[in-house]
Amino acid sequence: MGYRPQEYDHLVVGAGAMGTSIAYNLSHDSGRTLVLDRFYENHPFGSSHGRTRILRTAYAEGSAFVPLVLLARRLWKRLGQSVGREIFRPTGVLLAGPEGTPALDRAATSATSYGLPHERLEYDRARRRFPFFRFDPGDSALWDPGGGVLFPVRAIHAFHERARDRGVVFRWNSPVHRWSSRGDGPIRVSTSKRDYLAGSVVFSAGAWLPTLVPELRLPLTVEQQSVFWFRARDRRRPVYRDMPAFVWYRSGDDYFYGTPDVGEGVKIGGSQGQLLRRLGRPPASSPRELQSIRRFARERLPGISLKPVRRTRCLYTNTPDKNFIVDRHPDFPNVLIVSACSGHGFKFASAIGELVAQAVTREAIPSLLAPFRLSPDRGDP
Ligand SMILES: Cc1cc2nc3c(=O)[nH]c(=O)nc-3n(C[C@H](O)[C@H](O)[C@H](O)COP(=O)(O)OP(=O)(O)OC[C@H]3O[C@@H](n4cnc5c(N)ncnc54)[C@H](O)[C@@H]3O)c2cc1C
Repeated sequence: MGYRPQEYDHLVVGAGAMGTSIAYNLSHDSGRTLVLDRFYENHPFGSSHGRTRILRTAYAEGSAFVPLVLLARRLWKRLGQSVGREIFRPTGVLLAGPEGTPALDRAATSATSYGLPHERLEYDRARRRFPFFRFDPGDSALWDPGGGVLFPVRAIHAFHERARDRGVVFRWNSPVHRWSSRGDGPIRVSTSKRDYLAGSVVFSAGAWLPTLVPELRLPLTVEQQSVFWFRARDRRRPVYRDMPAFVWYRSGDDYFYGTPDVGEGVKIGGSQGQLLRRLGRPPASSPRELQSIRRFARERLPGISLKPVRRTRCLYTNTPDKNFIVDRHPDFPNVLIVSACSGHGFKFASAIGELVAQAVTREAIPSLLAPFRLSPDRGDP
């Protein structure tokens, strides 16, 4: 047929938060980069859509995340300055829960070990300082003033636009079905429309990642999460615009979280989702999800109306330890696997993009990514 595959130096599969950030960072390199996505920019079927994400710096999931989040925050601010749009808003983050909640102690320990500004607040001080919330006697809080809110649509658009301006090619509606490689030669990547050859490939395909590398039997499970938006009951006093982002722990590591009203109401979600056995048509939100979020809102955010004004669904791709997986394919060193979700990956996308691009264009995996390697001796952040 005289048909020749198109050739690129780097190919990124998946254009969510991770893939667009990786592409943006690869665009600083002189090579030719192609990005393929099965849907379109900012589609609502994966993990990166929606108007807000929380960036915490006091990190309950482990102190090793702290240097990564500090790098990420610096890069988000720089990205915002370079495109002249607000991508990070420093609202601070309030972590709250019953006194003795292990996650609060772990977050405080991580902040102390890196000398981050933070404050422990007992019941009386917490309720005076944060009147948006209702605290019970026996509740405790940790104030993380370095945290805030990220704006994903703007962030992803900035990565996409900047990468495209520097020559990165994006092809939407292009699901990758197959790939193959012989040793460390070029990798052949196939969509239903055409084949491509690339010197390196990054798989940043979110919940679909296991379908692209089934041989690795990655320990990933996919959970569908529902998120709801609520308005203030008294619309003349939109106090919830000035509140911080929050994470409210219940028992164990179970929590509810939310972001301030940035124009469409207060966003509230929870840690309990529906496990998905197959990807495809998303199941409807379970009524129990809305009930439990309303119960939380009634107890803790007394000023909001309990009728949601908007809802959406989104996927968590979880590892058993809620850590990330970022590493080279064990059999193909020029293939990188990037799974940075477990429900808390967005904030790191700016840093992971920069570090993965370094891993693609240089030999070694940067040390900040070491805790996320596939090897059995992987450190637990
Ligand atoms: C409800 C919710 C709330 C969250 N809140 C926070 C928060 O407050 N703070 C925080 O830090 N993180 C948060 N997260 C997590 C964060 O959003 C994710 O970690 C992050 O968005 C993951 O990005 P990704 O690029 O890995 O995945 P995705 O955004 O899912 O991107 C993967 C892309 O790959 C494409 N793709 C898949 N298969 C193929 C294929 N075969 N060929 C081509 N393309 C393919 C998909 O179309 C998709 O665009 C939240 C997540 C959810 C769901």
